[in-house]
Amino acid sequence: MTENENLIEVSDLKMYFPITKGVIFQKKVADVKAVDGVSFTIKKGETLGLVGESGCGKSTTGRAILQLYRPTAGSVKFKDVELTELKGEKLRHMRRNMQMIFQDPYASLNPRMTVGGIVGEPLEVHNIAKGREKRERVQELLRVVGLNPYFVNRYPHEFSGGQRQRIGVARSLALNPDFIVCDEPISALDVSIQAQIVNMLEDLQQEFGLTYLFIAHDLSMVRHISDRIAVMYLGKIVEITDHNTLYEDPKHPYTQALLSAVPIPDPVIEDQRQRIILAGDVPSPIDPPPGCNFSTRCPRVMDICKEVDPTWQDIGENGEEHWVACHLYE
Ligand code: SF4
Repeated sequence: MTENENLIEVSDLKMYFPITKGVIFQKKVADVKAVDGVSFTIKKGETLGLVGESGCGKSTTGRAILQLYRPTAGSVKFKDVELTELKGEKLRHMRRNMQMIFQDPYASLNPRMTVGGIVGEPLEVHNIAKGREKRERVQELLRVVGLNPYFVNRYPHEFSGGQRQRIGVARSLALNPDFIVCDEPISALDVSIQAQIVNMLEDLQQEFGLTYLFIAHDLSMVRHISDRIAVMYLGKIVEITDHNTLYEDPKHPYTQALLSAVPIPDPVIEDQRQRIILAGDVPSPIDPPPGCNFSTRCPRVMDICKEVDPTWQDIGENGEEHWVACHLYE
C-alpha cells in the first residue's frame, strides 16, 4: 500500500442501539440512531479530525470502525478488507492493526496493574512476547513515549495525567498498529499538557507511519494535528474538507457556528467578530427531525430544509475536495 491510498473506507455506516420495553418478552420500541449513514475515507499516513458536540456520535463512529460495536448497516473497509463480515480469529487478528487511545487517562488504566503489565498485556494476549522479551519491548515502548523505562513496576496512581496518557499511547503501540482511533485523547488534560501530547502523537505518526482518526469536541483542538476535518452533528457528517479550507471558508452553518466559538489570539479581531449562538437543544437521536438534522437550530433554515434531507455533495473547486450536506449549496 502506497501513500494516497485509502487505509480506511467507511460507507453509509449506521449504528443504531435498540430501546426495548417489557420484562420477559422484550420488544423493540425505538432506536437510538447514534450514527446514521456516515461515509468518509482516511488515507495512509493521514490524520482525519472528527469534531462535534458531546453525543453527536463521533466516539460511536470510532468504535464501530474498530468493530468494538458491530455496525447496524454499512461498510467499513481496512486495507480493502470488509471488517463488518469478519468474525472470530480473523477479526481478532485484524484488530491488532487497529488500536484506540481513550479520553480519560485516569479511568482507562487498570489501577491494580503495574505499568509493565498494562503496556505488555496486548503482547501476551496475542502471544507475541513473554518473559524477558516482553519486558524489553515494554521498556522500549516507554522510551518511545518519553517515559523512564525503569518505571515498569510502578502503578498508574504514581503518574500525572499527561504521563498516564503516555502509558495509554505506549499500550496502543505495543502491537505495531497501522491505524489508531484517538478518542478525545487531550480533552481531560491540563491545557499546558495538551500540546505536549499532540506533539508526541505527531512525532509517533512520522516515526511509525501511523494513520489517525482524531476525535475532539471542539475545533480549536484539531486544527494543528489534522490534515482534513469532518464535522458531525446528530449522527451525520455535515462537512469534510482540508483543515485550512475548513477554518478559512466553512460552508455548513453548523461548522460556522462551531468556528465562531473558537478563540482567536488577536484581541482586535476577537473583539470585532460575532459569535453565532445556536438556539435550542440538540434534538434526540431517537427521533431526529425530518429533512435536515440541523433544521431546528439553523440560523439560515429554509422551508425545504424541514422536509428534504440535503444531498452529500462535493462543492470543492480546482480539484480540492469540499464535501457538504446543505440545501444552500444545491
Ligand atoms: Fe441549515 Fe437548511 Fe443547510 Fe440544514 S440544509 S444546514 S437547515 S440551511
